[in-house]
Amino acid sequence: MKFDPSTSIHDYLVFGEFGDVNPSITDSSTFTFMSPKRMEEIFDHEIEGCFLYSRHWNPINKFLANALARLEDTECAQVTASGMGAISCTVLDICKSGDEIVSSRTVYGGTYALFKNFLPKLGITVRFVDLKDLEAVRSAITPKTRLIYGESISNPLLEVTDIPGLSEIAKEKGILLVIDNTFSPMVISPKRLGADIVIHSMTKFINGTSDCVAGCICATHDFINTLTDINSGATMLLGPVLDSYRAASILKNLHSLHIRVKKHSENAMFLAEEFEKLGVKVFYPGLRSNPDHELLNKLMNDGFGYGGMLAIDAGDYESAGKLMTRMQEEKVGYLAVSLGYFKTLFSSPGHSTSSEIPEEEQKKMGLSAGLVRFSIGLDNDITIAFERIKKCMKEIN
Ligand code: PLP
Repeated sequence: MKFDPSTSIHDYLVFGEFGDVNPSITDSSTFTFMSPKRMEEIFDHEIEGCFLYSRHWNPINKFLANALARLEDTECAQVTASGMGAISCTVLDICKSGDEIVSSRTVYGGTYALFKNFLPKLGITVRFVDLKDLEAVRSAITPKTRLIYGESISNPLLEVTDIPGLSEIAKEKGILLVIDNTFSPMVISPKRLGADIVIHSMTKFINGTSDCVAGCICATHDFINTLTDINSGATMLLGPVLDSYRAASILKNLHSLHIRVKKHSENAMFLAEEFEKLGVKVFYPGLRSNPDHELLNKLMNDGFGYGGMLAIDAGDYESAGKLMTRMQEEKVGYLAVSLGYFKTLFSSPGHSTSSEIPEEEQKKMGLSAGLVRFSIGLDNDITIAFERIKKCMKEIN
């Protein structure tokens, strides 16, 4: 049966303490026990509905985590204070010194820097490969490899990852497949395609209002229990806990995610087609001409479009800069990093969100200096933005 992540999230009613339709915000770091014995028991094992200390779990974070598990159709989830908190805790929980990771070479710059510069300090080696080349992935795996890491739709080139193909390799080798689904919530459900762990930077589409930084890890009960283990869990001991006020506001925003994703996708598709007609080099997997179009058609859920992210090649860095400056002046949107906001955001990844990747590597992966990445907004009439962009393009040429 086809999976509908939106129905999955909404098919749940909250009955708060006073019949509240939103769960109460847990404004407490610590929780009382009626007896020392009960406190001792929870140190031993998790007790349903019983809370100890908010770095471990608190009720509103649990509500949000449960909704995210329903979004990604996983058994369980954990929320974190940032997307990087989710990524670092996941890999540090799985890997120890001497272990290896096989990662896509086109990942978010912060992830790339964590893998390239930070993990080696802990004795963890990361081999970067082109995930499109399944044979290269297979041959990069050694007996020390613990996981394959990729993004469902990659940042910033919007390449689509063959999750079922990678899952087959991971299963054959007895390792885990970890997928960052930040660019495509609702559009792609990585766990249903064979991923073991699904990560989001909730800072982006899931929250959708660019007012906070947050992340999540969706996985099995066993993995989340490992992460939250009082004696050895990465989220428990490294401590990137999400504040309960934020958890409450993200949970409310999550309930409009399906409508927002549809509109982001509709607007992005319109712009991608118009850019293509103008002869601009455009990266958008919704276009028939895109090399990953057929793959995405096979992987995607029905009804949410091809996502709200697109990129164009403005030629060179200087032209990209001029175009972005003019677009901001013309109120197309903001010259800003990040994505998933209700206004259009644009940035030049080579000099911002992907600048951690050395220039030589950027060239190899096809990330040109003139690339402009757009997170398309929720404009009611996107033709207005397009007319303004066209005007800016004419002016700089
Ligand atoms: N994953 C992707 C694909 C991202 O684009 C980002 C941030 O831009 C992150 C992870 C990191 O998330 P955060 O900024 O919430 O730590």
